[in-house]
Formats: sequence, structure tokens, C-alpha cells
Amino acid sequence: MPALKASGEDIPPMIIYGKGYLGGGGSGIGRAVCQRFAAEGASVVVADVNEDSANQTLESLPQEHKGQDHSAVGVEVSSRESVEKLLTTIQCRYFQPPSVCVSAAGITQDEFMLKMAEADFDRVIQVNLKGTFLLTQAVSRALVASGAPKGSIITVGSIVGKVGNIGQVNYSASKAGVEGLTRAAAKELSRFGIRCNCVLPGFITTPMTDKVPEKVINKMTSMIPLGRMGQPAEVADACAFLASDDSRYITGVSIEVTGGLFIG
Ligand code: NAD
Repeated sequence: MPALKASGEDIPPMIIYGKGYLGGGGSGIGRAVCQRFAAEGASVVVADVNEDSANQTLESLPQEHKGQDHSAVGVEVSSRESVEKLLTTIQCRYFQPPSVCVSAAGITQDEFMLKMAEADFDRVIQVNLKGTFLLTQAVSRALVASGAPKGSIITVGSIVGKVGNIGQVNYSASKAGVEGLTRAAAKELSRFGIRCNCVLPGFITTPMTDKVPEKVINKMTSMIPLGRMGQPAEVADACAFLASDDSRYITGVSIEVTGGLFIG
């Protein structure tokens, strides 16, 4: 694949939110994205609120291309101070802003709406939606200030943001918000050469879906036309496309990675 590298130049750093894996071998989407981008030759910054997970991901990254320099940094995406500190750390190390940013941090706090606590609604919006805003704003500001000719911002929504899901009014609202944010940012940032696109995973095998009762997983799987849950690497493939020049004429779109769940 034609790659994430700038041809003949220094390999630009990328910033990836979301982790790696939690014990036991479950592997999240963020970790798979880090691994895929590292395999393509990018220098990857693994950033996560869980620094142990970020460091585990860092240790798993291939470093076979000349000039690659990966790092791991702790960040709380819902905090402006923390996100700004992250960008400062990156610029001090790499002397340039990230050319690609994947916002994969996300949480769930599921409950039926009739019982949901206001704090659980707020927290999911803070991390999933405000965190995506803070990160997108900080990275695009740095790209514009540096005069970088191009950038690719990739947000992670969810198919649930389109179709809703029982027990997830907070999560569904946050992910619908991420899509809207991405489209608006695409319109504002295109004049700076920055593309913004969203991936919408369906049901992907990660620690997040490990929490879903087996009964629900079986029911959902029976509705997926491709007949199985997705793998984190399959979401990473879509992110790699959106990060690369293969998608240079694509901005403001959402790509569903769902095995066909909820087509139409
Ligand atoms: P995961 O739980 O494996 O990974 C989420 C990561 O986000 C964790 O490493 C966690 O530490 C990090 N994180 C949480 N809060 C944070 C914060 N405040 N600041 C920084 N980092 C924080 O889950 P995953 O399944 O890999 O999910 C990745 C993204 O994909 C999420 O945005 C999720 O909503 C989205 N998604 C997942 C699925 C799925 O089926 N797994 C489906 C649709 C969308």
C-alpha cells in the first residue's frame, strides 16, 4: 500500500489514541491501528489514559523502517490541559505535528435510559465526543500553525450512532456527535489540506465487546450478513486507507466496518 510515509522525507509521526490490550490477549482497535501503521513505516505515538496498556502496545510495534521512532504517552482525552501537553510532548520529540491522528479512545456506561444516571451520560459524552473534539482541534491547530501541506484526521464513531442501541442512549448520542463533528471539521479544514473522516465499526472483538452478554453477541452475530464479528485489524485496514494518499480525494465521509450489519 502506498503508504503513510512521505516519500523520501522523514517519516511523519502519527498519534493514535486508544490502546492496546488488556491482559489476557484481547486486542483493541487502537492497538491494531498502531500495529498496522507501524508496519507501514510510520512513527507511532501511542497515547492512552492507561499508560501500562500504551506501553504494552509500544512494545508490540514493529520498527523495521529506517528512521522510525515510536513512543507512548499518557493522556486523558477529556482534559484540554492533558491534550495540549500531549501535543507539546510530540512536537518536542519529533519537531513536527502528527500528520495523521486516529481518535480511538472510547468508553461505554450502559444502562436503560429510564434508569441512567446523569453522571453516566455526561462521562460518556466527555470522553467520546469532547475528547474527539479536543484532540481534533489540537492536532489541526498544530498542523495549520506548522504550515504542513496535508493531514488526515480519523475519528472512530460507531454504527450505533446511526441506528441506536438499547441501553446506550449516552454512547449512541456521543457517536452520532462524532460523525457530525467530523463532517463539520472536514468542511472547515479542507482549505488547509486536512482531511477528516470517520470509521464506524459494527461489532468488533475487543475488551469493549467482551462486556456484552453472550446472548446479545449471538443475536447480533446472527444479524451480520458476513456471519461473524469483526477483528480490530479489519478496522485498522480502513484507517490505513483513510490515512494514505489512496484516499486523497475523500473527506467528510463515514466508512462502515460492520460486515454489512444494518445495511441501508
Ligand atoms: P477498548 O476498551 O479496547 O479501547 C478503548 C481505549 O480507550 C482503552 O485503551 C482505554 O484505556 C482508552 N480510553 C478510555 N478512556 C480514555 C480517556 N479518557 N482518555 C484516553 N484514553 C481513554 O475498546 P475498543 O473496542 O478498542 O474501542 C475503540 C474505539 O472503537 C472506541 O471509540 C469505541 O467506542 C469504538 N467502537 C468499538 C466497537 C467494538 O465493537 N469494539 C464498535 C464500535 C465502535
